[in-house]
Amino acid sequence: MKKVPFVTKEMIEEIVKTYPTPFHIYDEKGIRENAKAVKEAFSWNKGFKEYFAVKATPNPFLINILHEYGCGCDCSSLTELMLSNALGINGHDIMFSSNDTPAEDYAYAAKVGAIINLDDITHIDFVEGILGKLPETMSCRYNPGGVFQMSNGIMDNPGDAKYGFTTEQLFEGFRIMKEKGVKHFGIHAFLASNTVTNEYYPQLAKQLFEVAVQLKEKTGANIEFINLSGGVGIPYTPDQEPNDIRVIGEGVRKVYEEVLVPAGMGDVAIYTEMGRFMMGPYGEVITKAIHEKHTHKEYIGVDACAVNLMRPAMYGAYHHITVLGKEDAPCDHKYDVTGSLCENNDKFAVDRMLPEIEMGDYLAIHDTGAHGYAMGYNYNGKLKSAELLLKEDGSVQLIRRAETPKDYFATLDCFDVFNKIEF
Ligand SMILES: *Cc1c(COP(=O)(O)O)cnc(C)c1O
Repeated sequence: MKKVPFVTKEMIEEIVKTYPTPFHIYDEKGIRENAKAVKEAFSWNKGFKEYFAVKATPNPFLINILHEYGCGCDCSSLTELMLSNALGINGHDIMFSSNDTPAEDYAYAAKVGAIINLDDITHIDFVEGILGKLPETMSCRYNPGGVFQMSNGIMDNPGDAKYGFTTEQLFEGFRIMKEKGVKHFGIHAFLASNTVTNEYYPQLAKQLFEVAVQLKEKTGANIEFINLSGGVGIPYTPDQEPNDIRVIGEGVRKVYEEVLVPAGMGDVAIYTEMGRFMMGPYGEVITKAIHEKHTHKEYIGVDACAVNLMRPAMYGAYHHITVLGKEDAPCDHKYDVTGSLCENNDKFAVDRMLPEIEMGDYLAIHDTGAHGYAMGYNYNGKLKSAELLLKEDGSVQLIRRAETPKDYFATLDCFDVFNKIEF
């Protein structure tokens, strides 16, 4: 499918008069339509809730939009909990799915009443030690090990992943927590990442539902929810078929009817913790071509770098690029599109066929709405960009300003930095 950006050259030429490149821009209309579709796809389940994975796009304006559609927050750290709390999202609207968790994070999670989803059996005692008593509702992350296989092959390798309880530990953990007074239980698993297939959730659900029935029978635990976590993918490349959330929701409903309902568990709530699927396609990095270099290869240097979008450097991930204003021009030039870090992997594209790029052209890097801005860092002293929201009425709102050198140096106040540096 041809990938078309949600911005045009004319729009960007207007926006850069106020907000210079590079920046992240998000599409409010797309976010809303998708959030609505997710809600509808699971409306058959009375307790359904999507807990947006805050780590994917930790911006309060965007989380607030999702909250309008009933989404809660999936947090994995102290600051993510703080951000959710600041938005008035608290209690069981927060799922705290962390690992290798510091004590202060658990304390804060308990303070705001979040559901604690344990990553390991040893954390039962750890949490009890911090809080004095376990909360009445607890969840455990399950890792069955082995590989996660579907009809089109091996999707991922849970046996290699650091997360979760083994099957034995899950049963043991439920028994221990029940003895310690826990009344309501949940199960969580994240077994494959960025799955571009409608089969993943239904298959994961079947596996979790079967374990849930066993857990209920063997431990007598009252299982209130099953959390399918994240992992629903998006088509980063033009040849991939997008997932259809309606088909996915229907697939989960079918296995729910097959496995849970006959076991008398027809009131179990289904939770999800999608990040990428909720936000990925609705963000783009807009960057300007500022240099061209003709050496052993043809290079286009842009004003963004891996600090703004790390996925290509980190995973060799593909992000589609559109040269704005040249949407229909032939892709007859082969380029490496690079950022300015002193790292040879700071390339947004390698050997990519694109229309001829002239200096000053604006490039839209697609599908950067999740794990984009958030993953950025400050290597080479590079500053993080602004985030903008393209509203439904066509106006643009600044939803995070760009970093300035003062932000970068702020933690060097022990060096009296603000008196020594000339800004
Ligand atoms: C990262 C993460 C998610 C979101 O994953 P996506 O691939 O963005 O959907 C959900 N839950 C947990 C525990 C995570 O670590």
